Amino acid sequence: MNGQFDLLLAGAGHAHLGVLRLWMSGQRPKGRIGLISPGPYAWYSGMLPGLLAGRYRAEQCRIPLQALCATAGVELLQEQVERLDSSARCVELADGKQYSATWLSLNLGSIPKAPQVGESLLDILPVKPFDSFLQGWQRWQQAPQALAILGGGAAGVELALAVASQVPQLTLLSSARVLAGHPRALRQRALRHLADAGVRVEEGVAVDSIHGDALVSGDRLVWCGTRVILATGASALPWLALSGLDCDERGFVRVGQTLQSLSHPHVFAAGDCASLTATPRSGVYAVRQGPVLAANLGAALSGQPLTRFQPQRRALALLADGQGGALLSWSGMTAEGALLGRWKDRLDRRFIARHHGAP
Ligand SMILES: Cc1cc2nc3c(=O)[nH]c(=O)nc-3n(C[C@H](O)[C@H](O)[C@H](O)COP(=O)(O)OP(=O)(O)OC[C@H]3O[C@@H](n4cnc5c(N)ncnc54)[C@H](O)[C@@H]3O)c2cc1C
Repeated sequence: MNGQFDLLLAGAGHAHLGVLRLWMSGQRPKGRIGLISPGPYAWYSGMLPGLLAGRYRAEQCRIPLQALCATAGVELLQEQVERLDSSARCVELADGKQYSATWLSLNLGSIPKAPQVGESLLDILPVKPFDSFLQGWQRWQQAPQALAILGGGAAGVELALAVASQVPQLTLLSSARVLAGHPRALRQRALRHLADAGVRVEEGVAVDSIHGDALVSGDRLVWCGTRVILATGASALPWLALSGLDCDERGFVRVGQTLQSLSHPHVFAAGDCASLTATPRSGVYAVRQGPVLAANLGAALSGQPLTRFQPQRRALALLADGQGGALLSWSGMTAEGALLGRWKDRLDRRFIARHHGAP
């Protein structure tokens, strides 16, 4: 097989999973289409805290891509993109191989922002990519030690609640307030759960560098130890800014409402790797972009007019509380409890089940 495609999907993110799901049900456009993914599975971040808390097995929290792609009529290319030349419409892989395509779609997610690392004695585990995070976590579990989690957003809070009972001491460091941007009542509920779980929370502490075994904020030493999880805000994959695509000041690909790159209309981008007005980076928004992306990739391949993505104004947040329950926030309202945990579990399992291809 040669390396020329009509359409290449790079990354098995939430939006591409939605595209493949629609194509499984018969809406696949004509042409040679490939999906590039470093591994055989797409992990579902919504279930990761439950996996760490021991509520799920790994195979319940991931989507096998081979069956999904085969059912959708897409070639699965198990490779990692290392470089993109957007003008030449060509991606270069870790082994130096190249693929080119008439149309490209990027749904590559993001990686946690890392502080500056000097001479570090710390074992640092970024929460993404999930494969390497889970491998690292399994290694740590063999000899639990005190732990710091950097990042007080939803991911950091859920991770802290999931693993608090599995380590001798846990500190959650947040540059802003914990769950900043969420309603105050949700913050208070989360802080109570964190306190009950014995998590030490430090807010307003922006860790900007690591020296030896210490996390440092400005000139203040804020934590000493051996193990740190990075669950900080999203940063872009570094090679995107070198691709020739118009990127914002943080390196995310600027797209318009059709999800096309502002500089290279033959490149689409969705989810965390894209920069789109009024669209926060979260799984919820990436999922919502899936149907519009599917419609537009089909339209692009057949020369039809494209449709526009309208971000929803409100999004449901359901955070796992580490005990099988969940905290909810919707349109300023908040709630918590075991029943919400069961509802979250049902939604999460349904998401996985919907993306299973034929066995
Ligand atoms: C612990 C945790 C819990 C979270 N819980 C929630 C939640 O409950 N609700 C919510 O809305 N958000 C949640 N989030 C945020 C959510 O995970 C992200 O916003 C969301 O995953 C972004 O989706 P995406 O489609 O952009 O990419 P992702 O779903 O992150 O997928 C990106 C894909 O690209 C692939 N990829 C990466 N680099 C390359 C490369 N170089 N070449 C090829 N492929 C590549 C990856 O393997 C991956 O399959 C959580 C995050 C974490 C860390």
